[in-house]
Amino acid sequence: MSGWRARLALVALGLVMASVPTLGQGAAPGRAVASMGEPLQATHPTLRARLDRIAAGSALWREAVEAAGKLGRRVIVLTPDQVHPSAVEGRAKAGIDSGLLAEAMPIAHDGVRINAVVVVVNLPLIADVHARMGSLPGEHDADLDRILIHEVYGHALPYLLSGTLAGRCADPAEGERASQACAIQRENAVRGELGLGRRVDAGLQGLSLARATSRW
Ligand SMILES: [Zn+2]
Repeated sequence: MSGWRARLALVALGLVMASVPTLGQGAAPGRAVASMGEPLQATHPTLRARLDRIAAGSALWREAVEAAGKLGRRVIVLTPDQVHPSAVEGRAKAGIDSGLLAEAMPIAHDGVRINAVVVVVNLPLIADVHARMGSLPGEHDADLDRILIHEVYGHALPYLLSGTLAGRCADPAEGERASQACAIQRENAVRGELGLGRRVDAGLQGLSLARATSRW
């Protein structure tokens, strides 16, 4: 992991930790402290809705999130605007604002231990591509689910369940079949539970939005 990603993740964590106590339905006094320990944190309503939908349909997802929670570890899901722009170098900001669809960034303590992973999802870019395509809302939402499943279940949760960088679940290496890669095998298991199709490539072809990007 490069330095800018580490700094970005730490800043993002600070932002979210500050905002979490205001979260939650009917949060009573005293509940705020408990909510700091929720294993899957997101304040953006669109992300929250998709995460809830995935949890409702996937037993694998629920089991892994619950296991991470029991270990006191968490995934923090953010949009690019929730990451403080002044704290990141131009390259990082540009990548998240434009080109990258999403990224999972483990936060390492002592260079090894992982108690939290930040996932940044480029909601504006995903919405823009689907708007250009004239997609139905369901197509946009299904792509968001696929992206969240890949980043959270494919990458973030394996780090948390291991508790160290050794838990890394990788994307396909050069020359490796996508279906052999750890992150895509995990992604496909949850996709299967939700009827979201099977990913067979390392790129964007498993997403509806690939139809548009091939024309750009
Ligand atoms: Zn990946």
